[in-house]
Amino acid sequence: MNASLPSLEAIDAAVHAELAPLAVDIDVDGVYPEAFLRHLGALGGYGASLVADEHHPLDLRHVLTVAAHVGAVSGAAAFAVWCQFTCAWYLRHATVPATRARYLDAVVRGELLAGTGMSNTMKHLAGIEKIRLSARREGDGYVLNGVLPWVSNLAAHHLVIVAAAVDTGGYAMFAVETGTPGYANHPCPEFSGMEGSRTLSLRFKQVRVAADQVLAHPEQFDAFIARIKPGFLLGQVGMGLGVVDACIKVLHEHGGGQNDVNAYLDVQEDDLQAARDVLVAETALLAAQAQVGKAALLPVLRLRAEASELALRAGNAAVLHAGARGYIRRHAAQRLLREAVFVAIVTPALKHLRKEIHDLEQAASRAEAA
Ligand SMILES: Cc1cc2nc3c(=O)[nH]c(=O)nc-3n(C[C@H](O)[C@H](O)[C@H](O)COP(=O)(O)OP(=O)(O)OC[C@H]3O[C@@H](n4cnc5c(N)ncnc54)[C@H](O)[C@@H]3O)c2cc1C
Repeated sequence: MNASLPSLEAIDAAVHAELAPLAVDIDVDGVYPEAFLRHLGALGGYGASLVADEHHPLDLRHVLTVAAHVGAVSGAAAFAVWCQFTCAWYLRHATVPATRARYLDAVVRGELLAGTGMSNTMKHLAGIEKIRLSARREGDGYVLNGVLPWVSNLAAHHLVIVAAAVDTGGYAMFAVETGTPGYANHPCPEFSGMEGSRTLSLRFKQVRVAADQVLAHPEQFDAFIARIKPGFLLGQVGMGLGVVDACIKVLHEHGGGQNDVNAYLDVQEDDLQAARDVLVAETALLAAQAQVGKAALLPVLRLRAEASELALRAGNAAVLHAGARGYIRRHAAQRLLREAVFVAIVTPALKHLRKEIHDLEQAASRAEAA
């Protein structure tokens, strides 16, 4: 793996030349930006340094910047970037070295595109819903059964990373190739946004996974989730920041002249910019800690919730500032409002984050009182 510095200029050039012209088609016609996603991997956009050296200066922060730059052009593409990066992040920390060796390079380079079907597990672990996949242990491998209603960044010859409840107790996590016998996917109902993220409904019927497709066995699972979760959450902040930046641009374009009356609106460009700058600084700090496995969960959950709240505020401000022109179906403000809502509903949704934050705060005050 070439660990030379991925160039943000080269990535930005690809975002503007290859992705920007597709932004409306991605949103309106559900075009999946596959060529761009693969090229981004070749440019080091998914964190080339993950493979080479965990302490390399190009870390999680770099990937967050990439997600933000992509998200400023297309939230759906930024979500696909998050899916790809997050799978690389899981694989980078896989407790089974053979699984890391089998898939990490290809995922980081964007040669093997990958989806993360972890929403159900994350909600299950937070006490919100039942786990939908079960696994029967067979030696060092497993046989999977169950359904996942929504998983993005998927097609033929992709990889999907999921977790399941194991028959002998606990949970395990695996990488499944989408061509494996017993795996099937189906289209989802049409979404109001994010249609370009290739989101499918998945069914697993007696799907076999080999020992070198296991990321964590039950005895490793809790420590593994604790290691990957801050990066999982912070990557989504990158996507949210992209949406916020694009909203700020809309406010900027609709300021002054005949739009002077916009000054009477509650949220102004400077307000969003200031809140955005605080979020960027906090994200950089926590990303540096998460890179080396030292980020505490509570501040990361709070930051992820702040990103949702800011995206919602920015999306609303964008449509209000753009006015009737922004009500035209193909205007960026319309897309941004739906993308901002997605930042707040994708797992962990704002309600889920508030529950986890509440549970951790309660546990901390109980511990203090004891
Ligand atoms: C565009 C899009 C892309 C997504 N991509 C991914 C992804 O890549 N990976 C991933 O793991 N998750 C993905 N999700 C799921 C997402 O992260 C949330 O888990 C999901 O939106 C439900 O969360 P919620 O907080 O609204 O659930 P809740 O409000 O708690 O409840 C929603 C309930 O609906 C149930 N439900 C199950 N199947 C369906 C169905 N087919 N239609 C409607 N409701 C159903 C759910 O089990 C759940 O109980 C995606 C969702 C969307 C809309």
